Amino acid sequence: MILIVVLDGLRPDLLTPRQMPWLSRMAAGGAFCTASHATFPTATRINSSSLTTGCQPGRHGIVGNELYARAVDPLKAVSCADHRALQAVAASEGDRLLSVPTLGERLRAAGKRMVALGSGSPGTTFLLDPTQAGPVVNWAAAWPEATQEEVVRRWGGMLDESSSSAERTEFVTRALTEYLLPAEQPDVAVIWVTEPDHAQHHAGLGVPEALEMLGWVDRWLEGLVGRLEVEYPGALDCMITSDHGFSTISHHVSLREEREALEATLPVALEPGDLVFAGNGLYLNGQALEYLPEIRVSGAWSAEPNAAGVPGLTQSHSGNVASHGMASPFDVNNTLVAWGPSFQEGVTSGVPCGIVDIAPTVLHLLGVPAEGLDGRVLEELLRNGPNPADAPVVRTHRRGRLGAGRDQIAEYSEVSGHRYLDRVTVVEA
Ligand SMILES: [Zn+2]
Repeated sequence: MILIVVLDGLRPDLLTPRQMPWLSRMAAGGAFCTASHATFPTATRINSSSLTTGCQPGRHGIVGNELYARAVDPLKAVSCADHRALQAVAASEGDRLLSVPTLGERLRAAGKRMVALGSGSPGTTFLLDPTQAGPVVNWAAAWPEATQEEVVRRWGGMLDESSSSAERTEFVTRALTEYLLPAEQPDVAVIWVTEPDHAQHHAGLGVPEALEMLGWVDRWLEGLVGRLEVEYPGALDCMITSDHGFSTISHHVSLREEREALEATLPVALEPGDLVFAGNGLYLNGQALEYLPEIRVSGAWSAEPNAAGVPGLTQSHSGNVASHGMASPFDVNNTLVAWGPSFQEGVTSGVPCGIVDIAPTVLHLLGVPAEGLDGRVLEELLRNGPNPADAPVVRTHRRGRLGAGRDQIAEYSEVSGHRYLDRVTVVEA
């Protein structure tokens, strides 16, 4: 079995022997990637969909944590955290939420099975397998209906909004180990844990509350893998990743003020629905299309440390202490660790890779041919694969005019024709 675990928001530099001793040992004994990339924008549901499809957001279609779908609501964006909103978007687009085949669908077509679980928002879990090629379980809902009925029958109900992230994670862990593993005997199990993301958003990076959560996540993961090793002796491959990094917010931006400033530059008054903010994006309709033909923004960031000594500051419109979503290297660089019979031992790889490469690698390991993916098979991590130090890495950049006397520079690293966005910086033109 291949176990894929997503530890939401785990920055690779915070994966230390002091805070996460068990996962650090597994990283040292297996394959650890120092140049893994989240897809951009570095938001959760975008990366959830990239994990699910092996494709970039431009192909899978989830380009923000919020989406604007005129057929669902012409006046405002819907949240991708809400699975009902996602189902409504899918219904408005021919029952297809993601524009490309998913890992679950590709596996099912090859006669393999996948189960997916998550303790984050129902929407994030739903996006792991939106057509339910296999059963999907979240703390608030499960799909298809028969799966939810079985979860309710076994544990007396789903959890409610008052539950803690630890309770939610324990709930879906039980659903995996006591129900879905024995019932489905899956080839692939995906479990998405909502921490340390929650703790870091609310308490910040490097503070006691967030550090304690890293320890909790480490002990949880050790317990899960230990149990699976007993139940699946000798054949457990583990890929542990995160969906994005994290930055401390040093400067809050008000979207309402930005919008008012933008509207004040127009010669006409906009109608409701002409200008819709949605997560990291801005949707233009009607008069806004005519008078705002081009908008360019780039989020500022720096490598300065926060009060706890953790580097990476950013600006954000979120009300949290720390967040993600920008093209800062602290947001982009995510965690990727792999071990098991299919992977090299004791290898640290600096070859650029990313969350988009997990689906192609899993399909390759299971002998399922796959075409049309943006990601690549992570050959350099595989047993008998090439030495990561031999991979030719190419660094490129593109410079573009941002306006107001500034340029932005996007830096990329490239390997075997696959390109990863490292960072975007803003400079004087
Ligand atoms: Zn996240």
